[in-house]
Amino acid sequence: MSFQITRVKARIANYTLHQNRIIITSIGKHDASRYLNVTLTDEQGTQGYGEAATVIIWSGEAAETGLWIVENIVAPLLKGSHFDHPSDILPLLEKAFQGNPFLKASIDMAAWDLWAKRQGKSVGTLIGDREPVESVPTRFSIGAYSVEDTLRLAVESWEAGIRTLKIKTGVPGLDDVARLKAVRERLGDEPVLTIDANGAYHTEDQAVAAIEALLPFNLTLVEQPTPRDRIGMMARVKQRVDVPILADESIFTPGHLEEALDCDALDLLSLYPGKNGGFTNSLKMAKMAQQAGKHCVIGSNMETDLGQAAMVCLAASLTAFPVEQYASDLMTSMIYTASSTTPPIELKNGRLVTPQGDGFGVVPLQM
Ligand SMILES: [Mg+2]
Repeated sequence: MSFQITRVKARIANYTLHQNRIIITSIGKHDASRYLNVTLTDEQGTQGYGEAATVIIWSGEAAETGLWIVENIVAPLLKGSHFDHPSDILPLLEKAFQGNPFLKASIDMAAWDLWAKRQGKSVGTLIGDREPVESVPTRFSIGAYSVEDTLRLAVESWEAGIRTLKIKTGVPGLDDVARLKAVRERLGDEPVLTIDANGAYHTEDQAVAAIEALLPFNLTLVEQPTPRDRIGMMARVKQRVDVPILADESIFTPGHLEEALDCDALDLLSLYPGKNGGFTNSLKMAKMAQQAGKHCVIGSNMETDLGQAAMVCLAASLTAFPVEQYASDLMTSMIYTASSTTPPIELKNGRLVTPQGDGFGVVPLQM
């Protein structure tokens, strides 16, 4: 079904985080969310919405630079143009400007939302290879906190029904062994424990030693042990440790994934539209990973419910995401003081409820 874009609008939105749960990692601290909301309108007045989770320490993007690109490059490029399919827009953006994956994703996401709404359907039913599951188990990210605060956050999450805890590791000055030991001693064997080093281990030997020191606490997977641009090093670490490796920062694009599969650098893949530079790319990469026999999970960059709607859609609708086996980073309502959408996306007993409406099923409160 073809559509014509008649209006492209972007607006900067600020969101408030619970200050006692902010995410601190080996990359830095995420204590403020200043994002960009994008609205595309078609010739029938249908609107599609997207969010760019612009976090300068993660992707080098800021809301202000995103706004400038939308107003000066994207809007003139898309306004008045006809498209047969939402995935036809991304190649134009990729040709028009380098980088800025989260911004590209917000436009691409809005196009998918609009296209599905025109058909009176949810995106999940249009793209899925299974009936979208009703809810998706989430894991909570515990930042690089002291032993006491790690324990506080672990207990809070466990009591909220979250069964997988992801602990950020590799920050100098913190004793990760003591942190994981404290969590296991308090909560026992039941929680699924994973760690995310965000690329903190700078040599192969350092990564192997750090991982092996934590294996006694029964880790289900280790996320991004080596720096994002050291894909070969991650492959060598994977060979040496007896725990699955989840690739995150090393794999933004389909090209990165191809490279990583070629050198056997991962067991699992973290996907989400912002990092992948589009929902379109996430779909493509989920298929590539599945064909290579790798499972996918949803990662995050602290999206609000608006961005999270597209993330839960992927996890719920695609068999590439074995959601009951591996929980995803869908934790918006644990970290923000209020939802960004109507309806809000509900987190119930540690599971994110898949939105049911047309498109991605949510409308931003700020647009
Ligand atoms: Mg990660």
